[in-house]
Amino acid sequence: MKNWKERLLLGYRTFTSGKANVQQSLYKDLIVNGQKPKIMVICCSDSRVNPSDIFHTNPGDIFEHQNVANIVPGVDSLGSSYGTLAAIEYAVTVLKVEVVVVIGHEACGGIKGCIDGMGYNSSGYVGKWISIFNEVHERLLKLNIPKEKLQLEMELEGVRQSLKNLMTFNFVEEAVNSGQLELLGTHFSISTRTLSIMDNKGEFSSF
Ligand SMILES: [Zn+2]
Repeated sequence: MKNWKERLLLGYRTFTSGKANVQQSLYKDLIVNGQKPKIMVICCSDSRVNPSDIFHTNPGDIFEHQNVANIVPGVDSLGSSYGTLAAIEYAVTVLKVEVVVVIGHEACGGIKGCIDGMGYNSSGYVGKWISIFNEVHERLLKLNIPKEKLQLEMELEGVRQSLKNLMTFNFVEEAVNSGQLELLGTHFSISTRTLSIMDNKGEFSSF
């Protein structure tokens, strides 16, 4: 058995003597006054996509939720996906974040699984989860997108769909319409570390 405990403790000690030591007062403030993040980020569980790194943030800045393929289910496909929805409800109604950011990413395994048909015939939980995006996949297939572009197009379309699904929840729709909340779609390229941001027409531009 590999010594994961040693590896984790080594990282932990580096953290406590470094960043955590420098940010002592920030950590104390966050426990005395509580968290007041203005940003919620929904991103993939993928180990290569870390919102705190990408946006260079501190503890207390981002309320994060990670799941396979950064999917927000719609109100009609709830199933047993309450974990994602509980995080969104808490962020919007209790923390009153000002923006919910959905990050899609390059080489997403969940999206690839959906393209490969896992969402149609899997008895496992990953297949059941990504089947939420079967409709997105079917929509793209009708557009005859070249095979080599399908992965990226589906990653982008998945972000668009998650933003649409967010608006199917009354508490999100009300917060957006009252000006309390903005929704932002983004995509992160791991190979080039490029962030693309979606405009209100659904087009992505690199920054
Ligand atoms: Zn992913």
